[in-house]
Amino acid sequence: MKQWREAKSRHPDAMVFFRVGDFFELFNEDAREGARLLGLTLTSRNNGAAAEVPMAGVPAKALDDYLGRLVKLGRRAAICDQVEDAADAKGIVRREVVETVTPGTVMQDTLLHAKRNNFLVVIGLPAGRRVGLATVDLSTGELVLQPVALDALSAELGRIEPSEILLPRTVEEIAAGGEAPHGGSASAADLRAVLGADGSVARTLRTVRDDWLFDPETGRDELLRRYRVHSLDGLGFQSDDQLLVSAAGALVQYIREIRPSGSEHLQAPRIRRPGGEMVLDEMTRRNLELVEALRPGEEGGTLVAVLDRTVTSMGGRLLRQWLLRPLVSLEEIRERQGTVAELVEDRALRGRLREKLSGIHDVERLSAKVGGGRLAPRELVALGRSLALLPGLRAEGATVESPLLLALTSELDPMEDVAELLQEAIASDAPQSLQEGGVIRTGFSTELDELRAARDGARDFIAGLQVRERERTGISSLKVGFNRVFGYYLEVTKANLSRVPDDYVRKQTLANAERYFTPELKEWEEKVTGAEERILALESELFQKVRARVAGEVRRIQEVGRRVAVLDVVGTLAEVAEREAYVRPRLHEGFEVEIEAGRHPVVETMMPREEFIPNDLRLDDEGWIVVLTGPNMSGKSTVLRQVGLIQLLAQMGSFVPAASARLPVCDRIFTRVGASDNLARGQSTFMVEMNETAAIVHGATRRSLVLLDEIGRGTSTYDGVSIAWAVTEYLHEEIGARTIFATHYHELTQLGDLLPGVKNMNVAVREAGEEIVFLRRLEEGGADRSYGIQVARLAGLPPAVIARAKELLAELEGTHSGGGRGLGTEGRHAPGSNEGRNQLSLFMAEDPLVLKLRSLELDGTTPLEALNLLARLTAEARRGHDRTEDADMIGETE
Ligand code: ADP
Ligand code: MG
Repeated sequence: MKQWREAKSRHPDAMVFFRVGDFFELFNEDAREGARLLGLTLTSRNNGAAAEVPMAGVPAKALDDYLGRLVKLGRRAAICDQVEDAADAKGIVRREVVETVTPGTVMQDTLLHAKRNNFLVVIGLPAGRRVGLATVDLSTGELVLQPVALDALSAELGRIEPSEILLPRTVEEIAAGGEAPHGGSASAADLRAVLGADGSVARTLRTVRDDWLFDPETGRDELLRRYRVHSLDGLGFQSDDQLLVSAAGALVQYIREIRPSGSEHLQAPRIRRPGGEMVLDEMTRRNLELVEALRPGEEGGTLVAVLDRTVTSMGGRLLRQWLLRPLVSLEEIRERQGTVAELVEDRALRGRLREKLSGIHDVERLSAKVGGGRLAPRELVALGRSLALLPGLRAEGATVESPLLLALTSELDPMEDVAELLQEAIASDAPQSLQEGGVIRTGFSTELDELRAARDGARDFIAGLQVRERERTGISSLKVGFNRVFGYYLEVTKANLSRVPDDYVRKQTLANAERYFTPELKEWEEKVTGAEERILALESELFQKVRARVAGEVRRIQEVGRRVAVLDVVGTLAEVAEREAYVRPRLHEGFEVEIEAGRHPVVETMMPREEFIPNDLRLDDEGWIVVLTGPNMSGKSTVLRQVGLIQLLAQMGSFVPAASARLPVCDRIFTRVGASDNLARGQSTFMVEMNETAAIVHGATRRSLVLLDEIGRGTSTYDGVSIAWAVTEYLHEEIGARTIFATHYHELTQLGDLLPGVKNMNVAVREAGEEIVFLRRLEEGGADRSYGIQVARLAGLPPAVIARAKELLAELEGTHSGGGRGLGTEGRHAPGSNEGRNQLSLFMAEDPLVLKLRSLELDGTTPLEALNLLARLTAEARRGHDRTEDADMIGETE
């Protein structure tokens, strides 16, 4: 218990799994929690003189499963194991925490998603209004450092989606509402919005450490030591990168805390400076449904689902990163595009590359395991097989043209030395565990081969014994056998016991046989077991040596992993481009957006191809703001998002769903959806909508693309129209950002006449009598009406309601232009009524159907009667005009 208390005091925030024999035990509060969270049986242990201690345990073999469940629940666990051999120990065997397992640091495949990174984010000490972030995926070793403005922290964390956040105590305190020593109150508000009780990452596991862990001075020393460099310049740091050093230094120390056995596979940091990629805030990411559907459960409905035809896990992870981090450098975009284009054109090359890539295992995660020390023999085989495919990929470089593709193939490290080593050293059918034996291939070590030969010879000798002993004893049923407990034996049935020679020594008695050994058998048996022990020891030694040699090449393997990932993603983008008929967009430095026959990449896959109607769009100096009108359901939101997605695809280097496209490079894409369209968020308040609109008005530039969908809808009509109007004016006058504003308020079309940069477009509908038909076609000009009533009819509102709504609309439109009395000027009395018995009845009387429904006695009604009743009521409801008679009567009785 003393050892346990010591471990617990060092890891107060973790559940401590303490080795006792073949079990890992939890004590005290941990035990109660284990019983609750994991369903363990709570027992107790009498702790000498002290009171009883609650205890709950898991078998050592099953530890990983239980750890997995805890990690999924967002908890951390410290594993306290024996660190000396029981045979050598004086007194109680020494135990220490050998590893801490947390959601952000797990390495087990079963707890990781193959095509998604598992990120731990370290937030450093803030300075001014900025903070450094260190983002690491320990399962691959990838490490990225970046400075982030506090007001962009939420967006950045949303994009990273970490499983765990490590942060300094003061930051946690500020976020919880304390004083803000590091910055003004505005920064404190920013931190609260992210890390506070209702903050955007409130549900992510948070690990809080004292500020000294984040001290830049200490951090600097830690980094120099960890990367064995003399100055941080070599790692890409600049002299004023204190923010980054604070985060990265804390990270190195934290990894040492949770995994003392090492962080050798941690890659050199990549430093991401602001301006290097397109800014995508959280709302845009969500509204464009890049990696997550707005409505949970519709997993197919995302851009990543359409694009992800990657054939390796590494490619799958990189694709998500590219998607969430579109480029802003024309040069880089063109570099990717050129490669995609070449792979679109050369289909055979693409096929060969993808075929080869598909044989490559997750070498990034495998190499992290090699470095981290836990790796099954079978995984080394997988690594070896993967590396063996590299020369083939490299050879493809002979014919490629685009510079990036050339770098990815002909400059690929073929890794022949490591592949050969693995090929020679590890048996192709190596088992999962070293203990099973048979890991090292024959021919790799003469010593091992000799031991194996000796063992096999001894086994053969024993096998031959059966024939010889049968002859010697004349017992034809005599058998040589083996079992794990008793070893080798000679078995004689009871009937033949009289013929057993004197030199047989009895070993075991069965129901109808006796088992014996002889000095000779014993001698040979010892040869077998002795050889086996030495074989296992030698195999283990050789395996460690091979692994250490591979570990020495981890950097190279990581580099290969990166290239393979890029190759996979460009090949995938080409594959998608061909299958989905995308074209290469022409990117330029100018302002215009020109899309011909553009399509929504996700919506088009949800319907037969020919049913999706493509649309043209042009934004330029003559008209950079589009007020997009059209009735509900006409396709406004779809067109709007389609433009955003096409722009985003273009900037990630992909082809786009269109017949042709000329596009600028945008610094940001903003997408906002009006409150009532945004119920999925569960907090569809007008306030949220306005906050987001404010963020656009503050953040957009002339180089941004702003997509507004029904902004201003979360309030009354006049409010809504007014706000939408003012925002559009501001975007036009002050910012000049390319904007598409979808709205069903056709009043906004007047802006098209008033402001030079605003043009009206609408998604066309055709009226066929009372009905409307959606054409899904974008046209110049505004919609003249909202067609709300027709849409209501399509949606199945009863004819009486539709008829009445039309009357009211006519009244309102009359009032609007004619200056008559408006709706509501006389309380609930009919708007503008002069002889309004009909109106009166509809407004004031209860619907007769309702009256009838109310008088029904369902308790005594049979199902058949209920059906008949329903049929009658429906028929009545359909006879809209007949009802007016009834209604009139009721109206009169009032
Ligand atoms: P709005 O925003 O005008 O209410 P939406 O954009 O939500 O309309 O579109 C409604 C539905 O119409 C979509 O769910 C989609 O199924 C269909 N749709 C939209 N645009 C197109 C199109 N271009 N071609 C075919 N169907 C479309
Ligand atoms: Mg819409």
